[in-house]
Amino acid sequence: MIPAAYAVLNMAAVSHNLQKVRDCAPDAKIMAVIKANAYGHGALRLAHALANEVDGFAVARVDEGVRLRRAGVQKRIAVLEGFTCTDELDELLANGLDAVVHSWSQLAIFDARTEQQKIAVWLKFDTGMNRLGFKAADLQAVYARLMQCSIVKQPINIMTHLASADDKADAMTGKQLALFNATLATLPLDANNERSIANSAGILAWSQASTDWVRPGIMLYGISPFAQVTGAELGLKPIMSLHSRLIAVKPIEKGDTVGYGGSWLCEQESILGVVAIGYADGYPRYAKSGTPVLVNGQRVSLIGRVSMDMITVDLGVASTAKAGDAVTLWGEGLPVEEIALCADTIPYTLVCGVTQRVRQIEAE
Ligand SMILES: *Cc1c(COP(=O)(O)O)cnc(C)c1O
Repeated sequence: MIPAAYAVLNMAAVSHNLQKVRDCAPDAKIMAVIKANAYGHGALRLAHALANEVDGFAVARVDEGVRLRRAGVQKRIAVLEGFTCTDELDELLANGLDAVVHSWSQLAIFDARTEQQKIAVWLKFDTGMNRLGFKAADLQAVYARLMQCSIVKQPINIMTHLASADDKADAMTGKQLALFNATLATLPLDANNERSIANSAGILAWSQASTDWVRPGIMLYGISPFAQVTGAELGLKPIMSLHSRLIAVKPIEKGDTVGYGGSWLCEQESILGVVAIGYADGYPRYAKSGTPVLVNGQRVSLIGRVSMDMITVDLGVASTAKAGDAVTLWGEGLPVEEIALCADTIPYTLVCGVTQRVRQIEAE
């Protein structure tokens, strides 16, 4: 029997979304970003679905890459946070994972190593994100040092990350791209040194950012990286939908309050539905009253606070819904992007946040 709360993963959408990446960046190699358990969709599931379709994968952490290797994933895998200690470097080497090199302390760890085995690296250039990476002023020196490291496989790849690519009006992206290109022109590079800039927003909105490799994450899952646009509007198909069911239906009277803190006041008699989904499943705690929920395919409103295991909805006075009826929290007819806006968050957090309690089922 299917548990009350479950997510359906429409894996057929993956190839469709990948085609959109190819349409936007026809000449680029694709590094599918499957960090954080593939944004909650299952890293192994996505790795297997994409194995013959992409050129490589990216994960955030060493253990995420190791897990993919142990499960038999053979494609190139880049670890976006690189390594912080010599043990992690050992894991990267033992598993044939690419390291992102972003800090002087990593260079010191390289210098202390003498083995024959080499590691492929992505030199991370901080062009303005101010998260990981070396500044423009240091890039020549770092590049020269990496050329000298016996452990570093040549040629060296170079990457940066865009801070504001989701806002087409923001001047930041133009500045980052200009700095990237101008600084790389000062390095002794050739066509064998591969470059990578674009995440999903870069791929979709900044064609100049699609260099040798693109790094799509959220768009592969059929979700928009832009705040006011849905994946469907971009021609993407969402993979994940989140479902549950009504577990109680009852009348409510004018003057009743609903849920913790009594935050919702009933202004006219209606029928209340209780749905088996809550923040312990990953439904956002900050979804406001009025957030749409589909009951038997019809939109109704969330009312009152989201609890750990349940939410309450206003079914309307004429409702014929009953316990056991189908509820969709996001999916067909209810974009996750819309729920994210209602919860003052981004859709990334919603899909990443779906918890272990939610059974994941692949659509037929
Ligand atoms: C997460 C991440 C990506 C993918 O970003 P999306 O917005 O999901 O496409 C690409 N590059 C880096 C460095 C990342 O951390």
